[in-house]
Amino acid sequence: MTEPLLSLSKLSIHYPSQTEKIAVVDTISFTVGQERVALVGESGSGKSMTARAIMGLVRKPGQVTAEHLRFQNQNLLDLNTKQINQIRGSKIAMVLQDPRYALNPALTVGQQIEESLKIHRHRSRADRRDKIDEALLAVGLQPAIARSYPNELSGGMGQRAMLAIALINNPLLLIADEPTSALDAKLRNQILELIVEQCEQRKMGLLLISHDLPLVAEHCDRVLVMYQGQLVDQSAASLLPQSTHPYTQTLWRCRPSAATYGTVLPVLDRTLNLAGVEHGTD
Ligand code: ADP
Ligand code: MG
Repeated sequence: MTEPLLSLSKLSIHYPSQTEKIAVVDTISFTVGQERVALVGESGSGKSMTARAIMGLVRKPGQVTAEHLRFQNQNLLDLNTKQINQIRGSKIAMVLQDPRYALNPALTVGQQIEESLKIHRHRSRADRRDKIDEALLAVGLQPAIARSYPNELSGGMGQRAMLAIALINNPLLLIADEPTSALDAKLRNQILELIVEQCEQRKMGLLLISHDLPLVAEHCDRVLVMYQGQLVDQSAASLLPQSTHPYTQTLWRCRPSAATYGTVLPVLDRTLNLAGVEHGTD
């Protein structure tokens, strides 16, 4: 494995309730190098909160603690807001699930890409325009799209535009939080293939958050499985179908496909305490 770009050790995120503090992410540790790592698990398992913590976006009263949360040997938890802002959007970029909510409806696509460029680089206007054209072409969009507003784009085009914004500063790590969940099956594959291609071209690490196991098994190197805030299993993505962990097995068996059409899928037993359950795919 490559030298990790990102290393999390015992990361927890707590929220206060009336009686006690609740851990929505509970002492999880993992690394991401120049590779594609998937973070999977059912809804509410803490995937997005983990991504938010890495991006420094957990708001009070949420509380992030960790032995370390290191990116390129800098502990992100020790940095001030200005230092975090220099890394966020520049060295670590993020794309979100739904372009309808993540893009600013009042600005054109070009303005939004330029905004991201201006914050992180000092360039001439002509140079910025070239960069925007280049970024759009890299994600399979025509430069003329720069003049469109988000509501003029289809879901797939909106997702490509978000990717152009995320990639404009050539990040070392891309975090994609359910980037294809709002798309239909055919587009899902296209966008994932585009993300994978960009990772390879730019030598960029990827943390892909998804609940689509067949998709990550196909496109990622490693898979981390979260359940109720904890990391319960991890394996090579290609070994996901053979995982011996009971939760991962059920997640895999729950996936709908043409073969399961019309049949009843297994249901997850959420009363299971899976901490410390033995598994052996790694
Ligand atoms: P996932 O992305 O895996 O679906 P999330 O990371 O969004 O899950 O959420 C994990 C848990 O954190 C959920 O139980 C959710 O209810 C809780 N949570 C998310 N945001 C907040 C918040 N602002 N305040 C309190 N709890 C939250
Ligand atoms: Mg989420």
